[in-house]
Amino acid sequence: MKRALITGITGQDGTYLAEHLLSLGYEVHGLVRQTNLESLEGGRTGGGLSQCLLHAISLDSFPGLHRLIKKYKFDECYHLASVSFVGEHLADGFHTMFANISGTHFLLATLQDLQPDCRFYFAGSSEMFGRPTEAPQSEQTPFLPRNPYGISKVTSHHLVRNYRESYGMYCVTGILYNHESPRRRPEFVTRKITRAVARIASGQKQHLELGNLDALRDWGYAPDYVRAMHLMVTQPAPKDYVLATGHLRTVREFCAAAFSQVGLDWQEHVVSVDRFFRQEDAVPLVGDSSLIRAELGWSPKCTFDEMVREMVEYDLTLVRQP
Ligand code: GDP
Repeated sequence: MKRALITGITGQDGTYLAEHLLSLGYEVHGLVRQTNLESLEGGRTGGGLSQCLLHAISLDSFPGLHRLIKKYKFDECYHLASVSFVGEHLADGFHTMFANISGTHFLLATLQDLQPDCRFYFAGSSEMFGRPTEAPQSEQTPFLPRNPYGISKVTSHHLVRNYRESYGMYCVTGILYNHESPRRRPEFVTRKITRAVARIASGQKQHLELGNLDALRDWGYAPDYVRAMHLMVTQPAPKDYVLATGHLRTVREFCAAAFSQVGLDWQEHVVSVDRFFRQEDAVPLVGDSSLIRAELGWSPKCTFDEMVREMVEYDLTLVRQP
């Protein structure tokens, strides 16, 4: 039986990846915060996590990671955890940069020391391209990160590449564009919309306040992307890939698709307010994932409309619960 370690196992991608690996017969371990472990043990989070071995070890504890990796022999490690503050101001980003960069470095250094054969996946992000000079972006596009989160992801990516090139370790970065699901946190616009649709449809709410309705994103479906993570880790040779749908849609289009699921006209319920407005960049973030499609045969299975339907249906079940 193969054994995998997932950091960030309680997040959207972590839970889907854990379920995917369990379905393939893996023994799955996860790193969680102490407070999360207590609520998980209290049975408040179900799903696949109840079948995983969870360890309350912080990524900023080199000795803690060392003890864990000394105790268990891992075949694969998926490093998904990160501080995801996406502020514009560098001066606010000390914790984001410190935690994200040293977390990746501690993990890689420990693996190199104790288990250099363990395969390593790092969760990169389209934020690494920041303000890109071209669209769509591919593996060849230069990184121009523009906030502490993006800079920490680019730096971690270079660490991953260095451990691969200098020590011959199997380490890869997946550069993932936005990916959504019913498990997306409600701070993100997609889930904010589907939750509001469910509440408006059930009469609990009348209006939804959003920011820029013309904002464009390349929105994929999270379970499709975790399949790709596992594919990337199980190849004959390590390689980095961009993971994206390649389709841009506006927030307005997402609203139209979500409201139409419950037979409502979005224009009667959505208002754009300054409070949530963010200026969009001239060149949009949209990914060219033709390399992974050609080389690994990956492609998204779920369409945009199917994903929106699943998210709305899930939020409808939540509002109908007593
Ligand atoms: P991210 O910015 O790519 O990490 O993802 P978000 O889901 O937070 O935002 C996606 C896009 O939706 C951005 O371009 C936002 O400017 C736009 N957007 C428009 N209205 C809202 C809103 O009310 N909340 C959020 N989070 N984003 C909004």
